[in-house]
Amino acid sequence: MEALKQRILKDGNALNKSVLKVDSFLNHGVDPVLMSEIGTAFKEYFQKHGITKIFTIESSGIAPTVMTALQMGLPMVTLKKQTSKILSGEVYQTTVHSFTKDINYELTLSKKYISKEDKILIIDDFLAYGEAALGAARLVEEAGAEVSGIGIVIEKSFQPGRKLLEDSGYDVCSLARVSRLDEGIIEFVEE
Ligand code: 5GP
Repeated sequence: MEALKQRILKDGNALNKSVLKVDSFLNHGVDPVLMSEIGTAFKEYFQKHGITKIFTIESSGIAPTVMTALQMGLPMVTLKKQTSKILSGEVYQTTVHSFTKDINYELTLSKKYISKEDKILIIDDFLAYGEAALGAARLVEEAGAEVSGIGIVIEKSFQPGRKLLEDSGYDVCSLARVSRLDEGIIEFVEE
């Protein structure tokens, strides 16, 4: 998505070889116009997938996902990051490791918000090692529903997440694919 790539080049900040900060338009400040364009791009890619619900992970996935859900006319669910296990039987939970923060959390979905008939689109802001997206997919599949696609706003293609998701058979659409980062350097995969 050209507008997204241009915005990353203009306002993104490559801290080092692995971390890209996009605080001014996606992770802290949020640009609603760009979020709406992201929603359009995901709709174009996923509209024929028969999706019934869109899932995201709190909190940075929420802005692009709500725009996608609005444009596709679908309900949205935010998966929560809990610090400890809930032993009530009313939720699905799976442990996810965050390499950027070096912590584990319990990705949590209430059983109320999914059924076996659901075809789920998972959207997240970044794809790095694939831990968050694979955790979300585990919850969907534990509920007996189907993962019908994974939408990523910014993929760091030099990290293993994309390959892990594809090897698991998921249909992945990334709107910007970063091939290299370094202090002050951001390069994209040529497509
Ligand atoms: P993964 O689970 O694929 O390793 O990482 C994805 C999650 O980590 C995303 O939800 C995102 O919040 C965070 N993340 C990973 N890499 C970056 C990065 O370079 N910049 C930012 N802002 N977040 C990242």
